[in-house]
Amino acid sequence: AIPLVVAINTSLAARNGMLVRDRIAMEDARNLDAIIFDKTGTLTEGEHGVVDIATVDGVAEDDALALAAGVESDSEHMIARAIREAAEERDFTTPDATGFEAIKGRGVRANVDGNEVYVGGPNLLTQLESEVPDHLQNFADEAGENAQTVVYLVRGGELIAAFAMADVIRDESYLVVDALHDLGIEVAMLTGDSQDVANAVANELGIDTVFAEVLPEDKDTKVRELQDQGKLVGMVGDGVNDAPALTRADVGIAIGSGTDVAVQSADVILVQNNPMDVVRLVKLSKASYRKMQ
Ligand code: ADP
Ligand code: MG
Repeated sequence: AIPLVVAINTSLAARNGMLVRDRIAMEDARNLDAIIFDKTGTLTEGEHGVVDIATVDGVAEDDALALAAGVESDSEHMIARAIREAAEERDFTTPDATGFEAIKGRGVRANVDGNEVYVGGPNLLTQLESEVPDHLQNFADEAGENAQTVVYLVRGGELIAAFAMADVIRDESYLVVDALHDLGIEVAMLTGDSQDVANAVANELGIDTVFAEVLPEDKDTKVRELQDQGKLVGMVGDGVNDAPALTRADVGIAIGSGTDVAVQSADVILVQNNPMDVVRLVKLSKASYRKMQ
């Protein structure tokens, strides 16, 4: 039989926009030592805007943006959406692209005018072993220091442009970090984005632990890293990429309009996309525990 107090608090949770898939995890939430947040779309709005473009000699900024938008035309990623919107705002016609392929945690590729073209982040450059010209490296360094995500355009094996994309930290994120610290909980952040951007966001929010440039298949090992330190670990994420980490975590929390895969991997689903609900979840778990004693 379901203990009465737990049943009550499960419906209490539901009324607070929390769907509990695993009651044990809901109870464990009161004992969490650390909570890891996915960065993009969880701590930040995840709505990027293209704020600056740098290109190599002989490539016009407009052409670079139009080409990138063409390669991104099939992608659901928020970065792809932002690049397409930037091109639309300028009334660019995007070149026809074929053979779209998403490269998980790295970017996308497609064929345009007989060239193989890639758009993606630092993890993509590592995979392609692309050489970064000095002035594009300087551009990327400066953007990173300003917490701007940098996405690269590689055509026919050559890195030809970089785009600086601004994301916005959510107002609630400041409150969440402070509230979790007040509860004695370590706050960590996990992202596929660059170390520079991750550090800038973490410094701004006062986050304790940063895991950056993490590939989707490695996200769960970061959860395990904290667990190996003897900590009970919660993970908050929304994407397909976050699913293994949500499963690995002691308390996996899917947030907002999370993907089906994230939702199915989570113990608790926060219906509204409000990170403050993570704090409410911990407090509700603590309150339930007190009643049971
Ligand atoms: P996060 O960990 O921030 O949720 P993802 O795992 O979805 O991000 O992606 C990691 C990184 O891969 C992004 O920061 C970006 O650099 C790159 N990336 C992924 N998909 C795309 C795309 N469609 N276009 C450009 N870059 C992408
Ligand atoms: Mg994500």
